[in-house]
Amino acid sequence: MSIAENLAQIEDRIQRACNSAGRKREEITLMGVTKFLPVVKVEEAYQAGIRCFGESRVKEAMEKFESFKSRVQLHLIGSLQRNKAKSAACFFNCIQSIDREEIITELEKHSAGREHPLEVLLEMHTGEESKNGFADLDGLFRAAQMVLDSANLKVRGLMTMAPFTQDTALIRKSFRQIVNAQKELERRFPPKENGKCHSCECFSWECLSMGMSNDFEIAVEEGSTMLRIGSLLFKE
Ligand SMILES: *Cc1c(COP(=O)(O)O)cnc(C)c1O
Repeated sequence: MSIAENLAQIEDRIQRACNSAGRKREEITLMGVTKFLPVVKVEEAYQAGIRCFGESRVKEAMEKFESFKSRVQLHLIGSLQRNKAKSAACFFNCIQSIDREEIITELEKHSAGREHPLEVLLEMHTGEESKNGFADLDGLFRAAQMVLDSANLKVRGLMTMAPFTQDTALIRKSFRQIVNAQKELERRFPPKENGKCHSCECFSWECLSMGMSNDFEIAVEEGSTMLRIGSLLFKE
């Protein structure tokens, strides 16, 4: 199977999930997760129409995406080490893995020279044992306040990883937790105007990055606006 063929099947499934949930396909971005894959796979995915990519390591991403960077949106989805914050702040369009306060301070410090503010998502820990992230609303509120006080960062929403299980009730529970957190954040920190513009004052909580190869249809049903798909898209 080529990436284009895999993509066609995935698109078909996304469309069906949208139909059954009464949602529009355009509300959802499909990210190709290329961690551990060679650059030829990035090229093939680009040819197939993927324009948003996710990588979990800074160094690997910088080597792989040097020649693609200007043509795609590149997001960091793996936990960021402090000593990589400077490179990450320069290289990525968005850091989805804001999982602790220290990293907000570091990214703010190193984003001053950017043309536009660095977009970030707050990562919430909702079940996957191996994953990081803020464990509760208090943690998210504190992080949200820090990001909103940061001149060089722009918050766009939330990210989570559901537990890796066939138990769909557990997966749904995990997704509902960040949808609920999104509502609470919108109440506490009402979004300003158009969160997509590049002015420094505006921000929004609209991006819900959730759903992977194992659970993306459930994620669509629960309100995901960004699916992060690796293995299903790149399987041979
Ligand atoms: C690897 C990874 C993905 C993609 O997972 P697949 O199951 O291969 O689709 C998505 N999100 C994060 C944070 C990841 O690390």
